[in-house]
Amino acid sequence: MTAVIRTVAELRAHLSSARAAAKSVGLVPTMGALHEGHLHLIREAAAQCDEVVVSVFVNPTQFNSPDDLSKYPRNEDHDVEAAAAGGATVIFAPAASEVYPAGFSTSIRVLGVSERWEGATRGANHFDGVATVVAKLLSMVGADAAWFGEKDAQQVAVVRRLAEDLNMPTAVHTVPTARADDGIALSSRNARLAPNDRARALSLYESLNVVSRAHRAGERDAEVLITHAQKILRASSIEAEYWAIVDPDTFEPLERVDSEALAIVAAVVGGVRLIDNVRLPAQR
Ligand code: AMP
Repeated sequence: MTAVIRTVAELRAHLSSARAAAKSVGLVPTMGALHEGHLHLIREAAAQCDEVVVSVFVNPTQFNSPDDLSKYPRNEDHDVEAAAAGGATVIFAPAASEVYPAGFSTSIRVLGVSERWEGATRGANHFDGVATVVAKLLSMVGADAAWFGEKDAQQVAVVRRLAEDLNMPTAVHTVPTARADDGIALSSRNARLAPNDRARALSLYESLNVVSRAHRAGERDAEVLITHAQKILRASSIEAEYWAIVDPDTFEPLERVDSEALAIVAAVVGGVRLIDNVRLPAQR
């Protein structure tokens, strides 16, 4: 039976018996609207941990636009069913007042890695909100390990930095981006794309693939690679918020791709903000 828990006190009480029995506890933080991508994380956690807590919390502090927050899809019945089928033993779905009670005053800012790209386009508050809520969730659950998706690559880098800097005892694991058959990265926001925008949105992935191929063929100049990508996006009338090649740990932009790198893109398509990335592996 999968328990649905709404308060930190109940969560701790529930997990204390697991801990007394020396069971391992894994956490998969989500904002709900669960899709196959989330399920990859949950299944991975279930394969490695005895107790798997899936948190479902649309964190208001990481949204830069009230419109995006209000339009964010919510369907708890579906989420509980999907998470349970994936192997979750606990769904933690707190109210905002449980996470941010009156008097709440703490904010965690991870400098450097959070500042460009998502941090610059969504505003510094975005990653402050992410870092603060992730630190809170890890602490509420007392997780031995937590799973995050490579789709949100900068988020992963921010969380890794946070966990290391604050000496958190939680192991941070990642899972590759789950994609639809045509290659588009699965996202809760895809449901808001009109059919013609859904087709245009595919060019984000195509632009990453074109660069991936050029990189495999030996092109190392980031500016040249990015020019290839921009051409693909322009053909679909998409203006990227950013298209960059970065160091996977620091998210500093690279001029030459001589070691492992990440190609990252964000664009608004038909009013829906989408992000995607691919790894450019180190090559001899
Ligand atoms: P979200 O509910 O969008 O905050 O996502 C919760 C977790 O699921 C994050 O760690 C995301 O990176 C991860 N995730 C979202 N979409 C995907 C996807 N298509 N593939 C893999 N992981 C994903």
